[in-house]
Amino acid sequence: MIYLDNSAATIPDEEVLKTFTKASSAYFGNPSSLHKLGGEASALLEKAREKAAELLEAEQHQVLFTSGATESNNLAVQGTAYARQNRGKHVVVSSLEHPSILEAVAYLEREGWDVTRVSPQMNGDVTAQSVKRALREDTVLVCMMHVNNETGAILPAEEVGLMLKRYPRIHYHVDAVQAVGKIPVSFRTIGADSLSISAHKIHGLKGTGLLVYRDTRNLTPLFFGGAQESGIRAGTENPAGAAAAVKALRLAVSNRPEHAAHMRDLNVQLETFFKERKEVVINSPAQRAPHIINVSCPGRKAETVVHALEQREIYISTTSACSSRVSNESSVLKEMGADQSVAESAVRISLSGRTTAEEIGSFMKAWEQTVPEVTLAKGAK
Ligand code: PMP
Repeated sequence: MIYLDNSAATIPDEEVLKTFTKASSAYFGNPSSLHKLGGEASALLEKAREKAAELLEAEQHQVLFTSGATESNNLAVQGTAYARQNRGKHVVVSSLEHPSILEAVAYLEREGWDVTRVSPQMNGDVTAQSVKRALREDTVLVCMMHVNNETGAILPAEEVGLMLKRYPRIHYHVDAVQAVGKIPVSFRTIGADSLSISAHKIHGLKGTGLLVYRDTRNLTPLFFGGAQESGIRAGTENPAGAAAAVKALRLAVSNRPEHAAHMRDLNVQLETFFKERKEVVINSPAQRAPHIINVSCPGRKAETVVHALEQREIYISTTSACSSRVSNESSVLKEMGADQSVAESAVRISLSGRTTAEEIGSFMKAWEQTVPEVTLAKGAK
């Protein structure tokens, strides 16, 4: 098997699994219980929080554990908008955001907020200047992802952070899911007011993630009940899940220099290969994270290409995992100005630090042998 769908999910690391199973039985108490077992579970949770803060250059009290980045993004968007609605009801987002941001702001729009979606320039870039132009007197929130999950494009999250320093009334949220472990990520240097991370994209477990939030006193909860997670996220905490997520984060951060250089090499090999293939258009920009390359074979449906490679136990994906069961065409590529035949034939190859040069070699061979044979869609030339 050759697994090249690491932007959708990664295989859990052995050390992460060990941390989870060990902590699940050794610290099974409820962190809110007053007795020793509760205290031990609570101490494990706080230790994980402290470590996460250190790794991301944030303060311990700013780290909230969540069920993943979808929850983190929804909490950041809705929790911020509701907390600030008396100051203004305008939100600015990049149009390339993940559905967990785009659908959350679409919900706000239905509830009476104004939303400006900043589209990329011709070259696929959303610039700090275009975000600035979208700001209004009543803007309370700006969202910008660090790395796009479909093309790997690195967005100017730091430049936007720098620009927004002059607007302290505006909360700045960064989705860093596809950036962690691939490019340097620091809550401090990005200049964000909140940051989302998902563990299962970095060899951690599904259902665990983090939201780093500068001032949780200005955040309206989505869940109501107990006073867990600074009163922001009611419900019994998951100390073993938090410890495992932070173990994955620690490994991603410490392995990043070596793994990113390795993935970059493989990514360049893929780019060279695709440039020579006449059926292929490369959709990823040069300025991209090391783990993603997105290409189209106009006239050939993306899902047919994915299934043809699957026959050889090679796993890649169409668009992103979150939208591939909803639509066959890439809304990100359409936003970037791609025509229909490019958008509906886009496939994503995504690497991890564990992907080997041999696997990339076999992938290229299999591509040569199968993809040109994939039947052209009706009407294609
Ligand atoms: N943001 C981005 C950029 C993502 O790639 C994903 C996962 N596809 C998410 C958010 C959602 O993360 P989760 O699966 O943890 O909900």
